Amino acid sequence: MKKMNSIFISPEKQGGHNITETISLPSELIIPVQQHIGAPPEVKVAVGSEVKKGDILADGDAPMCVPVHAPLNGTVKEIYDFVLSSGVRTRAIKLLVTGAGEDNFAAPKVESKEDFISFVRSIGAVGLGGASFPTHIKLNPQKDVDTLIINAAECEPRITADQREIVENSEGIINGIRLIKKYTGVEKVYIALENREKEEIELVKELIREEEGVFLSLLKPTYPQGAEKVLIYNVTGRIVPEGGLPMDAGVIVMNVSTVGLIGASLISGAPLMRKRITVGGDCLKEHKNIFVPIGTKIKDIAEYFGGYIKEPAAILLGGPMMGQAVYSDEFPIMKNTNAVLFLSEKALGKRKESECIRCGRCIKACPFDLNPVFLADAYENRDEEALKKEHIMLCMECGSCSYVCPASRHLTQSHRLAKTFLKERSAKKNGK
Ligand code: SF4
Ligand code: SF4
Repeated sequence: MKKMNSIFISPEKQGGHNITETISLPSELIIPVQQHIGAPPEVKVAVGSEVKKGDILADGDAPMCVPVHAPLNGTVKEIYDFVLSSGVRTRAIKLLVTGAGEDNFAAPKVESKEDFISFVRSIGAVGLGGASFPTHIKLNPQKDVDTLIINAAECEPRITADQREIVENSEGIINGIRLIKKYTGVEKVYIALENREKEEIELVKELIREEEGVFLSLLKPTYPQGAEKVLIYNVTGRIVPEGGLPMDAGVIVMNVSTVGLIGASLISGAPLMRKRITVGGDCLKEHKNIFVPIGTKIKDIAEYFGGYIKEPAAILLGGPMMGQAVYSDEFPIMKNTNAVLFLSEKALGKRKESECIRCGRCIKACPFDLNPVFLADAYENRDEEALKKEHIMLCMECGSCSYVCPASRHLTQSHRLAKTFLKERSAKKNGK
Protein backbone atom coordinates (compact mmCIF):
# COMPACT_ATOMS: atom_id res chain seq x y z
CA MET A 1 0.00 0.00 0.00
CA LYS A 2 1.67 3.17 -1.18
CA LYS A 3 -0.95 5.83 -0.50
CA MET A 4 -4.31 6.59 1.02
CA ASN A 5 -6.52 8.26 -1.56
CA SER A 6 -9.71 9.99 -0.59
CA ILE A 7 -12.40 11.92 -2.39
CA PHE A 8 -14.22 15.14 -1.64
CA ILE A 9 -17.94 14.46 -1.61
CA SER A 10 -19.99 17.30 -0.16
CA PRO A 11 -19.77 19.56 2.84
CA GLU A 12 -23.45 18.88 3.53
CA LYS A 13 -24.04 18.03 7.18
CA GLN A 14 -27.49 17.78 8.74
CA GLY A 15 -28.56 18.99 12.18
CA GLY A 16 -25.01 19.59 13.45
CA HIS A 17 -25.77 22.85 15.24
CA ASN A 18 -29.00 21.93 17.01
CA ILE A 19 -29.29 20.46 20.49
CA THR A 20 -30.17 16.76 20.45
CA GLU A 21 -33.88 16.25 21.13
CA THR A 22 -35.38 13.22 22.85
CA ILE A 23 -38.08 11.32 20.94
CA SER A 24 -41.47 10.76 22.61
CA LEU A 25 -41.83 7.43 24.43
CA PRO A 26 -42.45 4.61 21.91
CA SER A 27 -45.18 2.10 22.75
CA GLU A 28 -43.12 -0.92 21.69
CA LEU A 29 -39.43 -1.77 21.19
CA ILE A 30 -37.84 -4.50 19.05
CA ILE A 31 -34.51 -5.49 20.59
CA PRO A 32 -32.33 -7.92 18.60
CA VAL A 33 -29.98 -9.68 21.04
CA GLN A 34 -27.01 -9.91 18.63
CA GLN A 35 -25.91 -6.30 18.42
CA HIS A 36 -22.15 -6.87 18.34
CA ILE A 37 -19.52 -8.74 16.34
CA GLY A 38 -18.85 -12.00 18.18
CA ALA A 39 -20.70 -14.67 20.13
CA PRO A 40 -24.50 -14.36 20.34
CA PRO A 41 -25.90 -13.77 23.84
CA GLU A 42 -28.63 -15.98 25.32
CA VAL A 43 -32.02 -14.48 26.08
CA LYS A 44 -32.39 -14.12 29.87
CA VAL A 45 -36.09 -13.21 30.01
CA ALA A 46 -39.29 -15.05 29.09
CA VAL A 47 -42.53 -14.00 27.44
CA GLY A 48 -44.57 -12.21 30.11
CA SER A 49 -41.50 -11.07 32.14
CA GLU A 50 -41.75 -7.57 33.58
CA VAL A 51 -38.44 -5.73 33.09
CA LYS A 52 -37.13 -2.48 34.42
CA LYS A 53 -34.93 0.02 32.58
CA GLY A 54 -31.34 -1.25 32.74
CA ASP A 55 -32.21 -4.93 33.41
CA ILE A 56 -30.17 -7.46 31.43
CA LEU A 57 -32.26 -8.96 28.61
CA ALA A 58 -29.54 -11.16 27.09
CA ASP A 59 -25.96 -12.12 27.94
CA GLY A 60 -23.44 -14.95 27.55
CA ASP A 61 -20.18 -16.36 28.91
CA ALA A 62 -18.11 -16.31 25.69
CA PRO A 63 -15.29 -13.71 25.72
CA MET A 64 -16.63 -11.94 22.60
CA CYS A 65 -20.11 -11.53 24.08
CA VAL A 66 -21.76 -8.34 25.28
CA PRO A 67 -24.97 -7.97 27.32
CA VAL A 68 -28.08 -6.19 26.05
CA HIS A 69 -30.11 -4.11 28.52
CA ALA A 70 -33.75 -3.02 28.68
CA PRO A 71 -33.85 0.62 27.48
CA LEU A 72 -37.21 1.29 29.22
CA ASN A 73 -39.64 -0.42 31.61
CA GLY A 74 -41.80 -2.98 29.86
CA THR A 75 -43.38 -6.41 29.48
CA VAL A 76 -41.83 -9.01 27.18
CA LYS A 77 -44.52 -9.69 24.58
CA GLU A 78 -42.68 -11.99 22.19
CA ILE A 79 -39.27 -13.59 21.56
CA TYR A 80 -38.69 -14.56 17.95
CA ASP A 81 -36.20 -15.06 15.09
CA PHE A 82 -35.01 -11.88 13.43
CA VAL A 83 -32.82 -11.09 10.42
CA LEU A 84 -30.47 -8.10 10.78
CA SER A 85 -29.73 -5.77 7.85
CA SER A 86 -26.37 -7.58 7.50
CA GLY A 87 -28.24 -10.86 6.90
CA VAL A 88 -27.22 -12.28 10.32
CA ARG A 89 -29.99 -14.26 12.05
CA THR A 90 -30.60 -13.65 15.73
CA ARG A 91 -33.36 -13.68 18.38
CA ALA A 92 -35.27 -10.50 19.09
CA ILE A 93 -37.30 -9.41 22.09
CA LYS A 94 -40.50 -7.42 21.58
CA LEU A 95 -41.05 -5.22 24.61
CA LEU A 96 -44.36 -3.50 25.35
CA VAL A 97 -43.29 -0.25 26.98
CA THR A 98 -44.92 0.45 30.35
CA GLY A 99 -42.87 3.49 31.36
CA ALA A 100 -39.71 5.55 30.93
CA GLY A 101 -38.14 3.99 34.04
CA GLU A 102 -35.77 5.51 36.56
CA ASP A 103 -32.09 6.35 36.24
CA ASN A 104 -31.04 5.11 39.66
CA PHE A 105 -27.94 3.09 38.78
CA ALA A 106 -25.01 2.62 41.14
CA ALA A 107 -21.70 4.12 39.97
CA PRO A 108 -19.14 1.31 39.51
CA LYS A 109 -16.00 0.85 41.63
CA VAL A 110 -13.06 0.85 39.21
CA GLU A 111 -9.70 0.38 40.92
CA SER A 112 -7.79 -1.94 38.61
CA LYS A 113 -7.49 -2.91 34.96
CA GLU A 114 -9.67 -6.01 35.62
CA ASP A 115 -12.37 -3.79 37.19
CA PHE A 116 -12.16 -1.45 34.19
CA ILE A 117 -12.53 -4.18 31.54
CA SER A 118 -15.34 -5.81 33.49
CA PHE A 119 -17.13 -2.44 33.89
CA VAL A 120 -16.86 -1.72 30.13
CA ARG A 121 -18.34 -5.15 29.35
CA SER A 122 -21.09 -4.76 31.96
CA ILE A 123 -22.48 -1.60 30.34
CA GLY A 124 -22.85 -3.42 27.00
CA ALA A 125 -20.33 -1.17 25.21
CA VAL A 126 -19.61 -1.81 21.53
CA GLY A 127 -18.11 0.38 18.79
CA LEU A 128 -20.85 2.98 18.39
CA GLY A 129 -19.60 4.39 15.11
CA GLY A 130 -20.97 1.41 13.20
CA ALA A 131 -18.42 -1.36 13.77
CA SER A 132 -20.11 -2.86 16.89
CA PHE A 133 -16.88 -4.60 17.96
CA PRO A 134 -16.99 -5.44 21.72
CA THR A 135 -15.22 -2.55 23.46
CA HIS A 136 -13.92 -4.63 26.41
CA ILE A 137 -11.96 -6.77 23.91
CA LYS A 138 -10.60 -3.72 22.07
CA LEU A 139 -9.41 -2.19 25.36
CA ASN A 140 -7.55 -5.35 26.34
CA PRO A 141 -5.31 -5.86 23.27
CA GLN A 142 -3.05 -8.87 23.08
CA LYS A 143 -0.20 -6.75 21.67
CA ASP A 144 1.63 -3.65 22.90
CA VAL A 145 -0.15 -0.47 21.96
CA ASP A 146 1.07 3.05 22.61
CA THR A 147 -1.51 5.20 20.83
CA LEU A 148 -5.24 5.79 21.07
CA ILE A 149 -7.00 7.53 18.18
CA ILE A 150 -10.42 8.90 18.98
CA ASN A 151 -12.37 9.02 15.79
CA ALA A 152 -14.48 12.17 15.66
CA ALA A 153 -13.91 12.67 11.93
CA GLU A 154 -17.40 11.87 10.78
CA CYS A 155 -16.57 11.69 7.09
CA GLU A 156 -19.89 10.40 5.71
CA PRO A 157 -21.96 13.25 4.30
CA ARG A 158 -25.00 14.30 6.35
CA ILE A 159 -24.10 12.64 9.70
CA THR A 160 -23.46 14.90 12.69
CA ALA A 161 -24.18 12.68 15.73
CA ASP A 162 -20.51 12.63 16.81
CA GLN A 163 -20.29 16.41 16.39
CA ARG A 164 -23.13 16.74 18.91
CA GLU A 165 -21.44 14.21 21.22
CA ILE A 166 -18.41 16.52 21.47
CA VAL A 167 -20.58 19.55 22.25
CA GLU A 168 -23.01 17.84 24.61
CA ASN A 169 -20.88 15.20 26.37
CA SER A 170 -17.42 16.75 26.61
CA GLU A 171 -17.13 15.79 30.28
CA GLY A 172 -17.89 12.15 29.46
CA ILE A 173 -15.27 12.21 26.69
CA ILE A 174 -12.49 13.58 28.89
CA ASN A 175 -13.38 11.12 31.70
CA GLY A 176 -13.28 8.30 29.16
CA ILE A 177 -9.86 9.41 27.86
CA ARG A 178 -8.38 9.52 31.38
CA LEU A 179 -9.73 6.06 32.19
CA ILE A 180 -8.52 4.50 28.95
CA LYS A 181 -5.08 6.09 29.33
CA LYS A 182 -4.79 4.84 32.87
CA TYR A 183 -5.82 1.24 32.25
CA THR A 184 -4.43 0.54 28.77
CA GLY A 185 -1.13 2.36 29.23
CA VAL A 186 -1.37 4.28 25.94
CA GLU A 187 1.07 7.20 25.92
CA LYS A 188 -0.50 9.32 23.21
CA VAL A 189 -4.11 10.12 22.50
CA TYR A 190 -5.16 11.85 19.27
CA ILE A 191 -8.64 13.28 18.86
CA ALA A 192 -9.18 13.25 15.09
CA LEU A 193 -11.53 15.92 13.76
CA GLU A 194 -12.30 17.36 10.34
CA ASN A 195 -10.65 20.76 10.01
CA ARG A 196 -13.94 22.48 9.07
CA GLU A 197 -15.67 21.79 12.43
CA LYS A 198 -14.73 25.15 13.98
CA GLU A 199 -16.97 25.02 17.09
CA GLU A 200 -15.84 21.48 17.99
CA ILE A 201 -12.17 22.32 17.37
CA GLU A 202 -12.30 25.18 19.90
CA LEU A 203 -14.13 22.98 22.40
CA VAL A 204 -11.64 20.13 22.10
CA LYS A 205 -8.67 22.53 22.40
CA GLU A 206 -10.11 23.83 25.67
CA LEU A 207 -10.94 20.31 26.87
CA ILE A 208 -7.41 18.95 26.41
CA ARG A 209 -5.49 22.12 27.35
CA GLU A 210 -4.14 20.62 30.56
CA GLU A 211 -4.18 16.94 29.59
CA GLU A 212 -0.75 15.43 29.16
CA GLY A 213 -0.22 13.37 26.01
CA VAL A 214 -3.60 14.28 24.45
CA PHE A 215 -3.50 16.00 21.06
CA LEU A 216 -5.86 17.31 18.42
CA SER A 217 -5.35 15.91 14.91
CA LEU A 218 -7.04 17.96 12.19
CA LEU A 219 -7.91 16.19 8.96
CA LYS A 220 -9.16 17.30 5.56
CA PRO A 221 -12.92 16.82 5.11
CA THR A 222 -12.59 14.03 2.58
CA TYR A 223 -14.05 10.55 2.36
CA PRO A 224 -13.26 7.93 3.77
CA GLN A 225 -11.08 9.89 6.19
CA GLY A 226 -12.78 8.28 9.22
CA ALA A 227 -12.21 4.67 8.09
CA GLU A 228 -10.01 2.88 10.63
CA LYS A 229 -6.98 2.06 8.46
CA VAL A 230 -7.09 5.38 6.62
CA LEU A 231 -7.33 7.24 9.93
CA ILE A 232 -4.36 5.38 11.44
CA TYR A 233 -2.24 6.20 8.41
CA ASN A 234 -3.26 9.84 8.25
CA VAL A 235 -2.85 10.48 11.98
CA THR A 236 0.28 8.43 12.73
CA GLY A 237 1.77 7.46 9.36
CA ARG A 238 1.58 3.78 10.43
CA ILE A 239 0.23 1.08 8.14
CA VAL A 240 -1.94 -1.78 9.40
CA PRO A 241 -0.66 -4.94 7.65
CA GLU A 242 -3.04 -6.70 5.25
CA GLY A 243 -5.38 -8.93 7.27
CA GLY A 244 -4.15 -7.26 10.48
CA LEU A 245 -5.82 -5.20 13.19
CA PRO A 246 -5.01 -1.69 14.48
CA MET A 247 -3.14 -3.26 17.42
CA ASP A 248 -0.68 -4.68 14.84
CA ALA A 249 0.29 -1.05 14.27
CA GLY A 250 0.36 -0.34 18.02
CA VAL A 251 -2.92 1.58 17.90
CA ILE A 252 -6.42 1.43 19.37
CA VAL A 253 -9.09 3.33 17.41
CA MET A 254 -12.32 4.25 19.16
CA ASN A 255 -15.33 6.24 18.08
CA VAL A 256 -15.77 9.43 20.12
CA SER A 257 -19.28 8.40 21.24
CA THR A 258 -17.94 5.11 22.64
CA VAL A 259 -15.33 7.02 24.66
CA GLY A 260 -18.07 9.40 25.83
CA LEU A 261 -20.28 6.46 26.85
CA ILE A 262 -17.52 4.95 29.00
CA GLY A 263 -16.73 8.27 30.69
CA ALA A 264 -20.37 9.14 31.36
CA SER A 265 -21.27 5.64 32.60
CA LEU A 266 -18.43 5.70 35.09
CA ILE A 267 -20.28 8.51 36.85
CA SER A 268 -23.90 7.50 36.29
CA GLY A 269 -23.53 3.69 36.29
CA ALA A 270 -26.02 3.59 33.39
CA PRO A 271 -25.53 0.92 30.70
CA LEU A 272 -25.94 1.56 26.98
CA MET A 273 -29.69 1.99 26.46
CA ARG A 274 -30.14 4.86 24.03
CA LYS A 275 -28.46 6.27 20.93
CA ARG A 276 -27.96 9.72 19.53
CA ILE A 277 -28.70 9.48 15.81
CA THR A 278 -28.81 11.91 12.91
CA VAL A 279 -32.12 11.72 11.09
CA GLY A 280 -32.33 13.20 7.60
CA GLY A 281 -33.00 12.74 3.93
CA ASP A 282 -35.29 14.49 1.48
CA CYS A 283 -38.41 12.52 2.55
CA LEU A 284 -38.65 14.43 5.85
CA LYS A 285 -39.46 18.10 6.53
CA GLU A 286 -36.46 18.64 8.79
CA HIS A 287 -33.19 17.07 9.83
CA LYS A 288 -31.86 16.82 13.34
CA ASN A 289 -30.14 14.70 15.94
CA ILE A 290 -32.36 12.85 18.38
CA PHE A 291 -31.92 10.47 21.30
CA VAL A 292 -33.87 7.25 20.87
CA PRO A 293 -34.12 4.18 23.09
CA ILE A 294 -32.36 1.24 21.43
CA GLY A 295 -35.08 -0.86 19.80
CA THR A 296 -37.18 2.13 18.64
CA LYS A 297 -38.79 1.36 15.30
CA ILE A 298 -37.87 3.55 12.33
CA LYS A 299 -41.54 4.33 11.70
CA ASP A 300 -41.83 5.86 15.21
CA ILE A 301 -38.95 8.16 14.28
CA ALA A 302 -40.65 9.16 11.01
CA GLU A 303 -43.85 9.90 12.98
CA TYR A 304 -41.90 12.09 15.42
CA PHE A 305 -40.73 14.08 12.39
CA GLY A 306 -44.34 14.54 11.21
CA GLY A 307 -44.37 11.69 8.68
CA TYR A 308 -43.00 11.49 5.16
CA ILE A 309 -43.31 14.35 2.72
CA LYS A 310 -42.26 12.00 -0.09
CA GLU A 311 -42.35 8.22 -0.19
CA PRO A 312 -38.84 6.88 0.61
CA ALA A 313 -37.30 4.74 -2.12
CA ALA A 314 -34.69 3.62 0.42
CA ILE A 315 -34.20 3.84 4.18
CA LEU A 316 -30.53 3.74 5.10
CA LEU A 317 -29.10 2.94 8.52
CA GLY A 318 -25.89 4.96 8.41
CA GLY A 319 -24.61 7.45 5.86
CA PRO A 320 -25.20 7.55 2.12
CA MET A 321 -21.83 5.91 1.33
CA MET A 322 -21.69 2.93 3.69
CA GLY A 323 -25.19 2.84 5.20
CA GLN A 324 -27.18 -0.37 4.93
CA ALA A 325 -30.63 -0.31 3.36
CA VAL A 326 -33.34 -1.88 5.49
CA TYR A 327 -36.36 -3.64 4.12
CA SER A 328 -39.02 -1.98 6.28
CA ASP A 329 -39.64 0.97 8.58
CA GLU A 330 -40.55 -1.58 11.28
CA PHE A 331 -36.79 -2.15 11.61
CA PRO A 332 -35.30 -1.05 14.99
CA ILE A 333 -32.45 1.26 15.95
CA MET A 334 -29.51 -0.78 17.22
CA LYS A 335 -26.44 0.00 19.33
CA ASN A 336 -24.34 0.77 16.25
CA THR A 337 -26.89 2.92 14.40
CA ASN A 338 -25.64 6.49 14.05
CA ALA A 339 -28.04 7.76 11.38
CA VAL A 340 -31.30 7.05 9.58
CA LEU A 341 -31.75 8.56 6.14
CA PHE A 342 -35.03 8.54 4.27
CA LEU A 343 -34.16 9.01 0.60
CA SER A 344 -36.37 9.43 -2.47
CA GLU A 345 -35.56 7.97 -5.88
CA LYS A 346 -34.26 11.41 -6.93
CA ALA A 347 -31.93 11.73 -3.92
CA LEU A 348 -30.57 8.26 -4.57
CA GLY A 349 -29.55 9.57 -8.00
CA LYS A 350 -29.79 6.15 -9.61
CA ARG A 351 -28.38 6.13 -13.14
CA LYS A 352 -28.24 3.35 -15.69
CA GLU A 353 -25.04 1.29 -15.68
CA SER A 354 -23.02 1.48 -18.91
CA GLU A 355 -19.74 0.14 -20.33
CA CYS A 356 -16.47 0.98 -18.58
CA ILE A 357 -14.66 3.75 -20.47
CA ARG A 358 -11.31 2.95 -18.80
CA CYS A 359 -11.00 6.43 -17.34
CA GLY A 360 -9.16 5.21 -14.22
CA ARG A 361 -11.10 7.41 -11.79
CA CYS A 362 -12.05 4.44 -9.62
CA ILE A 363 -8.36 3.55 -9.19
CA LYS A 364 -7.52 7.09 -8.19
CA ALA A 365 -10.34 7.16 -5.64
CA CYS A 366 -9.52 3.91 -3.82
CA PRO A 367 -7.92 4.53 -0.38
CA PHE A 368 -6.09 1.19 -0.59
CA ASP A 369 -4.70 1.64 -4.05
CA LEU A 370 -6.78 -1.25 -5.37
CA ASN A 371 -7.85 -1.55 -8.99
CA PRO A 372 -11.66 -1.64 -8.67
CA VAL A 373 -12.38 -2.15 -12.36
CA PHE A 374 -9.94 -5.08 -12.58
CA LEU A 375 -11.46 -6.61 -9.42
CA ALA A 376 -14.97 -6.30 -10.88
CA ASP A 377 -13.85 -8.07 -14.05
CA ALA A 378 -12.11 -10.77 -12.02
CA TYR A 379 -15.31 -11.39 -10.06
CA GLU A 380 -17.36 -11.54 -13.25
CA ASN A 381 -15.01 -14.32 -14.41
CA ARG A 382 -15.07 -15.91 -10.90
CA ASP A 383 -11.25 -15.75 -11.07
CA GLU A 384 -10.27 -16.68 -7.52
CA GLU A 385 -6.53 -16.29 -8.08
CA ALA A 386 -6.81 -12.82 -9.65
CA LEU A 387 -9.07 -11.61 -6.83
CA LYS A 388 -6.55 -12.76 -4.24
CA LYS A 389 -3.56 -11.43 -6.14
CA GLU A 390 -5.20 -8.01 -6.38
CA HIS A 391 -6.01 -8.01 -2.64
CA ILE A 392 -9.81 -7.94 -2.77
CA MET A 393 -9.95 -8.60 0.99
CA LEU A 394 -8.42 -5.16 1.58
CA CYS A 395 -11.58 -3.59 0.15
CA MET A 396 -13.54 -1.95 2.95
CA GLU A 397 -16.59 -1.40 0.72
CA CYS A 398 -16.32 2.36 1.19
CA GLY A 399 -18.19 3.07 -2.05
CA SER A 400 -15.72 5.68 -3.34
CA CYS A 401 -15.08 3.82 -6.61
CA SER A 402 -18.79 3.53 -7.42
CA TYR A 403 -19.35 7.16 -6.45
CA VAL A 404 -16.81 8.53 -8.92
CA CYS A 405 -17.54 6.15 -11.80
CA PRO A 406 -18.98 8.04 -14.82
CA ALA A 407 -20.40 4.76 -16.17
CA SER A 408 -22.31 4.14 -12.89
CA ARG A 409 -20.79 0.69 -12.60
CA HIS A 410 -21.82 -1.23 -9.48
CA LEU A 411 -18.23 -1.73 -8.40
CA THR A 412 -18.67 -1.80 -4.62
CA GLN A 413 -21.54 -4.26 -4.88
CA SER A 414 -19.36 -6.48 -7.07
CA HIS A 415 -16.52 -6.33 -4.50
CA ARG A 416 -18.89 -7.27 -1.67
CA LEU A 417 -20.08 -10.28 -3.66
CA ALA A 418 -16.49 -11.19 -4.59
CA LYS A 419 -15.45 -11.25 -0.92
CA THR A 420 -18.40 -13.50 -0.04
CA PHE A 421 -17.50 -15.70 -3.02
CA LEU A 422 -13.90 -16.11 -1.75
CA LYS A 423 -15.06 -16.82 1.81
CA GLU A 424 -17.50 -19.48 0.57
CA ARG A 425 -14.83 -21.08 -1.64
CA SER A 426 -12.42 -21.19 1.29
CA ALA A 427 -15.07 -22.65 3.66
CA LYS A 428 -15.85 -25.32 1.04
CA LYS A 429 -12.17 -26.20 0.72
CA ASN A 430 -11.92 -26.49 4.51
CA GLY A 431 -14.97 -28.77 4.51
CA LYS A 432 -17.19 -26.33 6.46
S1 SF4 B 1 -15.14 0.08 -2.30
FE1 SF4 B 1 -13.24 -1.09 -2.11
S2 SF4 B 1 -12.28 -1.00 -4.11
FE2 SF4 B 1 -13.86 0.62 -4.05
S3 SF4 B 1 -12.75 2.43 -3.40
FE3 SF4 B 1 -13.56 1.51 -1.52
S4 SF4 B 1 -11.93 0.15 -0.78
FE4 SF4 B 1 -11.43 0.68 -2.92
S1 SF4 C 1 -14.34 4.75 -12.99
FE1 SF4 C 1 -15.83 3.48 -14.04
S2 SF4 C 1 -15.55 3.92 -16.18
FE2 SF4 C 1 -13.71 4.69 -15.14
S3 SF4 C 1 -12.26 2.93 -15.19
FE3 SF4 C 1 -13.38 2.74 -13.28
S4 SF4 C 1 -15.09 1.37 -13.81
FE4 SF4 C 1 -14.28 2.15 -15.73
